[in-house]
Amino acid sequence: MWIAGREIRTASPLTVRVPYDGSPFATVFAAGPNELQQAVEAAVAAAPVMRALTLDERSAILRTAHYRLLEQKEEFARTISSESGKPLREGRVEVERAAGTLLFSSEEAHRLAGEVVPMEALSAGKGRMAMTVREPVGVIAAITPFNFPLNLSVHKIGPALAGGNTVIHKPASATPVCALKLARLLHDCGLPAGALNVVTGPGGAIGDFLVEHPSIRMITFTGSAEVGLRIRARAGLKRVTLELGNNSALLVEPDADLADCVERAVPGAYAHSGQVCISVQRIFVHRRIHDEFVERFTTAARALRVGPPLDPATQVSSLITETEARRVEQWVEEAVAAGAVRHSGGPRSTATLQPVVLTEVPEQSRVFRQEAFGPVAAINAYDALDDAIARLNNSDYGLQAGIFTNDLDKAFHAAHRVEVGGFLINDVPQFRLDQMPYGGVKLSGTGREGPRYAIEEMTEPKLISWRTR
Ligand code: NAD
Repeated sequence: MWIAGREIRTASPLTVRVPYDGSPFATVFAAGPNELQQAVEAAVAAAPVMRALTLDERSAILRTAHYRLLEQKEEFARTISSESGKPLREGRVEVERAAGTLLFSSEEAHRLAGEVVPMEALSAGKGRMAMTVREPVGVIAAITPFNFPLNLSVHKIGPALAGGNTVIHKPASATPVCALKLARLLHDCGLPAGALNVVTGPGGAIGDFLVEHPSIRMITFTGSAEVGLRIRARAGLKRVTLELGNNSALLVEPDADLADCVERAVPGAYAHSGQVCISVQRIFVHRRIHDEFVERFTTAARALRVGPPLDPATQVSSLITETEARRVEQWVEEAVAAGAVRHSGGPRSTATLQPVVLTEVPEQSRVFRQEAFGPVAAINAYDALDDAIARLNNSDYGLQAGIFTNDLDKAFHAAHRVEVGGFLINDVPQFRLDQMPYGGVKLSGTGREGPRYAIEEMTEPKLISWRTR
């Protein structure tokens, strides 16, 4: 663990394993109530120190971290791949993205400003002037998932520090090592002790402790809807930002450039074995081009290289656990038993599943209705765009969706009707740049990330009014 600028060990070691083959990768330690209390005290004690840093000092720490992370790109990429099972080539991209997120956070520190309030807009305000200043929320608990162990941590820690807050970070149990390395890196870049603390161990007990602790003023969570709802129910009046799941959909119109669409949709569905919150899961294809699309998509899915995460040629590796791979396999079997056609995919070898392509998928099946979070694409035909949009919206989730078409009228027709936080025209819903406002509607969550948006949520506007006499 990392508390008050120091490495902490306890009597409860935890082995972090490579999901692909179960080999041991690192040892961390489980936080008990003592360590959790220490972390809270360290964050509370560091709060005035962070608050007192000038915007430029906060910005400089984050900017230095951007450069240091790029210098250590390979080491961080190998850590991401080892603990999350993500192919190394994707691990390298994640480090570059995280470095970018640090830089955007550093820039937001420079831009942190309030506004002048037009008090004389009412005659009762005559002679008054007012402004808002943005103050830190205080101590923020950041709880993150396994699938982007570095960049999703930076999406919370970067804006929180830029806003002058202190942080207690609880990384996913399977992927704590990146988080610990990130804390050390920020410390080496001049971050005051206690401004960022990392507590490791199982989610339930640690999560509940942090969510209910009175000194913690905000919870920023990325993970499953199930845990998100539990946090929301227990957080009382704390600020809560929730980035949850999705069963992302793509619409493919008959005038789409099919080669371009397939080239983007296949990695969109199978990158990190589909364990991406905006992974392409449901694909609605116009009936006129359906068969050709399925043939091209299946050929490309079969050509993906499945293998160990650290092999630079690997395109698809394992899921996070064998249990998860079995669950996805089961959902696929259920859909097939209910009438879906399997064009490719399976068999499973421990935690690794070959990319699955399904068509004619019953839309009530779990692999269609719920978040699959596995290497599965469910492709169904449609005749009319409005029908496809209605079926796309027939989901509990609403994070991102996309359309491929050469007709801008149709693209904007869809854009205005889809119930999501972000809509991508001529791209897959899995596309994200880290400066975008990013977040969902419905069960996909509340609030937006992207440093510019997150820093708004992580600071309080305080009004200061002045009456002239
Ligand atoms: P998860 O919900 O199982 O765990 C997320 C984090 O919550 C972990 O750190 C875990 O230890 C912790 N946790 C567990 N129980 C808790 C509790 N009672 N209180 C507080 N924290 C608790 O999710 P996961 O399996 O790590 O990640 C996959 C999920 O994350 C998927 O649903 C995916 O869609 C979602 N996700 C969403 C986004 C987004 O930006 N919307 C991005 C990535 C992943």
